[in-house]
Amino acid sequence: METAALTEQDGEEIRRQLLSWFRLNARDLPWRQTRDPYRIWVSEVMLQQTRVATVIARYTQFIQRFPSLVSLALAREDEVLTMWSGLGYYRRARMLHSAAQLLVNEHGGSLPRTSQELRRLPGVGDYTAAAIASITRNEPVAVLDGNVERVLTRMLGKSAARRAGLPARLKETAGWLLDTKAPGTFNQAMMELGATVCLPRSPQCKVCPVEKFCGTKGEHVAAPRKQIVSRLTHYALITRPVEGESKRREVLLAQRADNASQMPGMWELPPLAEAAKSEPVLRIRHAITNTNFYVEVFAAHVEKLMGAGKKRKLERHEWILDSKLGEIPLTGLARKILMRLDVMAKPREVRSGKALPSREGDFL
Ligand code: SF4
Repeated sequence: METAALTEQDGEEIRRQLLSWFRLNARDLPWRQTRDPYRIWVSEVMLQQTRVATVIARYTQFIQRFPSLVSLALAREDEVLTMWSGLGYYRRARMLHSAAQLLVNEHGGSLPRTSQELRRLPGVGDYTAAAIASITRNEPVAVLDGNVERVLTRMLGKSAARRAGLPARLKETAGWLLDTKAPGTFNQAMMELGATVCLPRSPQCKVCPVEKFCGTKGEHVAAPRKQIVSRLTHYALITRPVEGESKRREVLLAQRADNASQMPGMWELPPLAEAAKSEPVLRIRHAITNTNFYVEVFAAHVEKLMGAGKKRKLERHEWILDSKLGEIPLTGLARKILMRLDVMAKPREVRSGKALPSREGDFL
């Protein structure tokens, strides 16, 4: 089946089926309880490249700490990065922060109304602009994220997927299919279908509301998996008691350089060039995009880190009180290690098992 074969009547039926399926099956997500453009914007930026389960807890805490655009704009960057800790891709947080400052300083502190104007903000692409404008202002503009692209590619059929010019075709089809009376809800329904039914490797066609109109019905060639790279890394856990406070301790952390290509300015455990001779106190796996980091953490003394006898200078290292760890921008991995070793308190959502302690990865 090709789009050309779909009639206006088919389009109407697809919209009707999809919207009624969404009414019954939409997940109860915190950002679906608001139409505040600022909150929708925050959720959309967090959801780029991060799993919904991880975003839920971080979104709620972020909004509690920065309930408005103005409060975000007035915050220091390290406060914003701290609240972003565990979501990864920290460039998104920096862009969000600088866009909020721009809006407060030059645009009266509110988000632009149209997708075209939103698109001019730092870090806001076509997808984010369309999502915000359609959900909050009912602008009839279709979103095209990875989930929607997959649904449409499968609906268009195998021959269309092989043909040149597919991206333009997908854009055209998304615009044609959009329900202009309820564009925000329709866009969310399409994304939800891709996220929960039309799954990348095992589409659930039997429960799909648009199965009748689908050109492949699950018969598809899955995109080849990205090659996974494995890396072994080592970190030192160095703590010391706090004088006069038997239950308190400080932990030595290192700050990444401001010009580091990844996570500049973030705090982590001091890296070790090689494994120590002792048994690690923790072994975990931490996945970032297509790299699996196999991480070993060794309990160490500060003298060992400085090199016995050589006393190399420890730059950008600091002793941090355990109760203050939640107030500095930690890398997701450092946060995971410190929680796992009970050096850092786990947030309520993690203790209750509702959210993962970090963006990705499994404890071994
Ligand atoms: Fe995806 Fe299957 Fe629905 Fe087609 S029928 S859109 S492949 S879930």
